[in-house]
Amino acid sequence: MEGSVCVSSNLLTRRFWLNGFGGSKWKIIVCGKGGGRFCHLTPPGVWNNIRKTEDKLFLNGKRIHSLVKGVVGNGNIRFWLDVWFGDSALLFKWPCLFALEKFKSCWVSDRLEVLGEELLFHFSWLRDPVSVSEIQELEEFVSSFGDVKLSAGRDRWVWSPEASGVFSTRSFKALAEEDRVEEVPFSVKGCGWVPAKCRIFMWRTALDRIPTRQALERRNIPVESSSCALCGEGVETEDHIFTACDVIMRVWNRFSGWINLLPIFAFSFSDVLNIHKGVSRNNKAKEIIHGLVIALCWTIWKARNEKIFANGRGNSVYIFGEVRSYGFFWLKNRSKYKDIVWREWCNYPLYML
Ligand SMILES: [Zn+2]
Repeated sequence: MEGSVCVSSNLLTRRFWLNGFGGSKWKIIVCGKGGGRFCHLTPPGVWNNIRKTEDKLFLNGKRIHSLVKGVVGNGNIRFWLDVWFGDSALLFKWPCLFALEKFKSCWVSDRLEVLGEELLFHFSWLRDPVSVSEIQELEEFVSSFGDVKLSAGRDRWVWSPEASGVFSTRSFKALAEEDRVEEVPFSVKGCGWVPAKCRIFMWRTALDRIPTRQALERRNIPVESSSCALCGEGVETEDHIFTACDVIMRVWNRFSGWINLLPIFAFSFSDVLNIHKGVSRNNKAKEIIHGLVIALCWTIWKARNEKIFANGRGNSVYIFGEVRSYGFFWLKNRSKYKDIVWREWCNYPLYML
């Protein structure tokens, strides 16, 4: 039977076809958005719907596109953004170095060169790595590449769950069977110090149930424009408004600096839901960070509505200020941290732990 499977990558800026993938009759379509920053190319119509489904689909705890792995040939696979070395994209493995990378979407061939028996690195940093964590990552980075294997010829994409690399529906189904536990994208339980209205908002957003302009258009409700109300660029989708929007990226930068986190790279709303899980702090800190992320998302949506309906400012300084204020008020009045002090809170919200 002829058919097609859409394997989207949030990390790719282009869309391409790999016909006759690994000898399979199936066509693999990799459609994407991103490009290292948080911009999106939104594929039209049915492909967009398929991509959205894929974003929510996990096999063995992994997004399906991470199971499609690049085998580097002529090097036109993205060095940081594609999965080609190890089990995840390199930006997740070495986030400090990725933050320093000048060209986030560079190719493997831009950074690696094989000269006989030697492997040469061609770095292009915004500035040289100097901090302890940057140097540690750099050392690990260089030593890890002792095992890298580059093949001659064209780049290939393989289905990593199969040793042969050949995609088959049997293999896909077997993985899906192992993963039958239904995923709960967001639980309104937990983080009791954040008001229920915010947690319910997150739950609705995780289910794609908030009235973004794109969602309204999809339901044939006339809207003035489908563009993002905050930045005026890009279609106002959930992923755009919480991760890709220029205004919101500035908020995330302020937010990560405030909590002393590594720069936050979120490519979809589901990434936002998991930010607290990826930080190396204790459970109390994680709960506060999770609550602040909820407060941030709720504030973004509130600021967006104010800008559309009440001439609100909707800029990053205002949004970040609101998160800090609401976070302080809620934590002080709805948790055991009743003695927190505003000035200390503004410097570092986990100071009391
Ligand atoms: Zn925007």
